[in-house]
Amino acid sequence: MIACENVSFAYDGVVVLSDLSFNINKGDYVCVVGENGSGKSTLIKGILGLKSPIKGSIAFEGMDKRDIGYLPQSAQMSSDFPSSVNEAVLSGRLNSMGKRAFFDKKDKQEAKKAMELMDIYDIRGKSFGELSGGQRQRVLLARALCSAKKLLVLDEPAAALDPKASYEMYQLVKRINDEMGITILMVSHDCRSAIEFASHILHLGRTRYFYGLKEDYIESDIGKNYLCIWGCEHHVH
Ligand code: ADP
Repeated sequence: MIACENVSFAYDGVVVLSDLSFNINKGDYVCVVGENGSGKSTLIKGILGLKSPIKGSIAFEGMDKRDIGYLPQSAQMSSDFPSSVNEAVLSGRLNSMGKRAFFDKKDKQEAKKAMELMDIYDIRGKSFGELSGGQRQRVLLARALCSAKKLLVLDEPAAALDPKASYEMYQLVKRINDEMGITILMVSHDCRSAIEFASHILHLGRTRYFYGLKEDYIESDIGKNYLCIWGCEHHVH
């Protein structure tokens, strides 16, 4: 679905990612890991078309930008959102409406499906402002899901959540991957969840990169080192 070939990114002439190549296939669940400043968000911007590479190419196959749903970092989200849960989720359909001014039956069905999958259909009448952090993230995830036909991109979806709510968040992302066949590209600082749920790992290191199956990552030097630093050895099977 996505072919990244020898891609490099820079800010004001300073290269932050160089010569990165990887392919994402339909149904993959890719977790992007690496230290702060290693270029994870830059790569996400590149895939969303918000930043152009200085070298190399990013090509989509069998999809285009309109098929991508995006959930930004939770810290960037505020409560000044459309009033109800239902409206917030439905607003994810805006990019599929074309010139229509009102939501139609299909928009409403898609919103309902997303709310059911995220277990928030019962609270659809509540206002966004009165929800807990975990519930808000579910709403935003359902909203992103409404606009994602093929690929869901998430930048640290559980950053502001407590451990229980983050674990639920990662489980929900896995459910989207399994039940809807939507490909996942997720930045995560939580290596346990990366190891538990992802099919592939993209590790952006300062001097080298790793891209491949999770099972191979666990056995690689770069993977062993990283997982050891984060104290996740006991999760490695
Ligand atoms: P990560 O998401 O892994 O923390 P980023 O992609 O945010 O990494 O950043 C990679 C590098 O690019 C860092 O050194 C950061 O300081 C630099 N950088 C990110 N955004 C900008 C920007 N808008 N202008 C200049 N440098 C930036």
